[in-house]
Amino acid sequence: MPDILVVGSLNTDLVVQAPHFPLPGETISGGDLQVIPGGKGANQAVAAARLGANVSMLGRVGKDNFGDFLLDNLKSNNVDSQFVQRDDSSTGTAIIVVDENGQNSIVLSAGANGKVSSADVGHASFSSFSLLLLQLEIPTPTVYRAAQRARENGLRVILNPAPAKSLPDELIALADFLIPNETELSLLTGMDVKDIPSTEQAARVLLKRGVKHVIVTLGSKGALIVDEEMSPRRHGDASTHVDTFKVNVVDTTAAGDAFIGGFATALLENKSLEESVCYGCACGALATTKFGAQPSLPTKEEVEFLVGAQRNG
Ligand code: ADP
Repeated sequence: MPDILVVGSLNTDLVVQAPHFPLPGETISGGDLQVIPGGKGANQAVAAARLGANVSMLGRVGKDNFGDFLLDNLKSNNVDSQFVQRDDSSTGTAIIVVDENGQNSIVLSAGANGKVSSADVGHASFSSFSLLLLQLEIPTPTVYRAAQRARENGLRVILNPAPAKSLPDELIALADFLIPNETELSLLTGMDVKDIPSTEQAARVLLKRGVKHVIVTLGSKGALIVDEEMSPRRHGDASTHVDTFKVNVVDTTAAGDAFIGGFATALLENKSLEESVCYGCACGALATTKFGAQPSLPTKEEVEFLVGAQRNG
């Protein structure tokens, strides 16, 4: 039975490494082109599927070769694509230049992702899923409709407000878990986010806007859970800092997507909130040890090995 429905984007990432970013009018030689499946929606779907969850994806790709490529990729990662439509627009594409220092410069062409509609969401059956994953690479009204349908059908909603944009309170209030990084948190609240106290303060503003739990991912500093619930382990605090794992970082692309796929899968396995965040951190950390988006997403075995190694000291 399917567990997770992801309503979101599918992109082809066209990646070239170059000595530096080209100046206007300049042509420079780069390395070999790498064509990598990406898009936050598809990344999160594949992340959860690699960890053993049953996942379906709802979205759109073009009728072009990249559309075939992305559908084949979902299939080979055991992600069901019955709700992915072929659109007359081009498949979503990210054109990425990576310079010598590992910095990215990206042009995103939304293509078919921009056509994912409330009607698409209306046509899908939600009742067999228990969890909905949402990001912001498709139109916001579609995201809102998907969250509404999830609520009507008793699914829990995880909203990853990425890429960063401001959101209406009505949408925020439909989320059980809002998972921004520090940049996204700052944009959502208009507040400075620079350390743990300021992160907690900003997250509390989002709680007031109606979401139940805010989990802020903090890169190499792990994650912060902020909610109204008190647990005995939290000694009266309603925020908990969860450390991440020490790894050799190669490329941080898709760390956030790996975190969310891992967190969602752990929740479905009835792990506690803190355990689920810890599991997400292990997935995020492992994703930084390999180059690219989906090629870096870890398997269940890799995550369990890392978590077990830490536990055994
Ligand atoms: P995003 O990719 O959305 O910006 P983050 O950079 O916060 O998200 O990364 C998501 C999660 O991945 C973090 O919460 C952390 O657990 C893990 N992670 C990211 N960078 C590192 C790192 N350098 N070392 C270890 N874990 C990391």
